[in-house]
Amino acid sequence: MIDKLVIANRGEVALRILRACGELGIQTVALHSEADADTKYVRLAKESVCIGPAPAAASYLNIPAVIAAAEVTDASAIHPGYGFLAENADFAKHVEESGFIFVGPAPETIRLMGDKISAIKMMREAGVPCVPGSDGPLPDDADAIMRIAAGIGYPIIIKATAGGGGKGMRVVHTEAALLNAWQLTRSEAQAAFANDTVYMERYLEKPRHVEFQVLADTQGNVVILGDRDCSMQRRHQKVLEEAPALGITDDMRHKMGELCANACRLIGYRGAGTFEFLFEHNEFFFIEMNTRLQVEHPVTEAISGIDIVREQIQIAAGEPLSVSQDDIHLRGHAVECRINAENPDTFMPSPGRITQYHQPGGPGIRVDSHIFNNYRVPPYYDSLIAKVIAYGETREQALVRMSGALREMVVDGIDTNITLQRRLVNDAAFRQQALDIHYLERQLSS
Ligand code: ADP
Repeated sequence: MIDKLVIANRGEVALRILRACGELGIQTVALHSEADADTKYVRLAKESVCIGPAPAAASYLNIPAVIAAAEVTDASAIHPGYGFLAENADFAKHVEESGFIFVGPAPETIRLMGDKISAIKMMREAGVPCVPGSDGPLPDDADAIMRIAAGIGYPIIIKATAGGGGKGMRVVHTEAALLNAWQLTRSEAQAAFANDTVYMERYLEKPRHVEFQVLADTQGNVVILGDRDCSMQRRHQKVLEEAPALGITDDMRHKMGELCANACRLIGYRGAGTFEFLFEHNEFFFIEMNTRLQVEHPVTEAISGIDIVREQIQIAAGEPLSVSQDDIHLRGHAVECRINAENPDTFMPSPGRITQYHQPGGPGIRVDSHIFNNYRVPPYYDSLIAKVIAYGETREQALVRMSGALREMVVDGIDTNITLQRRLVNDAAFRQQALDIHYLERQLSS
């Protein structure tokens, strides 16, 4: 049983978790840095604890402070949200060893899937298709690396096994550039992730990013909540997501769902998770698994009717899933636009005081956001300030609703990417067809 839960995160996701706890009758403890004391979720939570100064390293990433806060408030569980400590296996281990429930998979699972090389190895064992590649770490041997690359065929991509957030990757087009790129990626990986292990994959030139949402309980039940298309990216960061992905037949969806469910059983997965694939020429290639709640989970909630955060918390409490696969009927279409506090031309963060905020509404519109009039966007964290989700019976209806919502939305006082999102949602090519992961950047540079 969970009677009191610590929210070890901030911003819109802190509010999302707080709302789910409210429905479940679970008391909440909001943790916050000194910069986030005056926020909506802190005020709405039953209790709150300041865990340190503004920089994330001193607060939201401060494991002893988070655990001490759970101890002093006598909470039973800790929800990490996404980002910060959500995929930190050591944190999950500390949480469990201190006698709390971690809302997420077992620490060993986080560790296994957090290392991309070991994740790919497990997925191959489970029969999940992966990108052709080095099948393991690159050896410290220039000739061997050149042979591996030649075997895969150029272009290739060198990736850090510990990489994340779109960092630690480098595309190589020619043999002449290979060794230099290998050295650079390796030293970047060491600096960013304290792990210089890198591997190699074929670089897919025009893929889409299609991912599958899973939920697994501790009784061995697994359900697949369908797929999402997250191809609209900038610098490997998702900008707009939708569900379901265009052009995936029911047959393909079913087959991939079965493979993901099998993989969950093989690794003893627990909680909410996402299998990410690149999709090109009608083929899926696994790239990584995220062992946490995703920013884009609301589009899946919209078409499945399942509250993913609620299920996550109930799974952590040891309860079985509230639905079986036969109960899942995906219906309609949903789109999410990430609204960031950033300069529309330079994409530099644009913190500051919001002088005026008008939230859009109407049929099929959901807004997940922690901002309000006079809220000051702090300069220390991710620039995501709101997620606008539009649902429709068809993709066309969802996009028409999204377009209206973005027209209605006002965020004054700071710069945002709302105009960019308006352009994308009304873009003729985007309206008509599924586009690859480089489309948005091509548009931005044209
Ligand atoms: P991260 O953990 O940093 O998010 P991923 O492995 O999920 O890294 O890759 C992030 C993005 O990088 C993908 O969505 C895709 O845009 C690009 N990418 C990764 N691997 C490949 C590949 N083999 N070919 C082409 N693009 C890739």
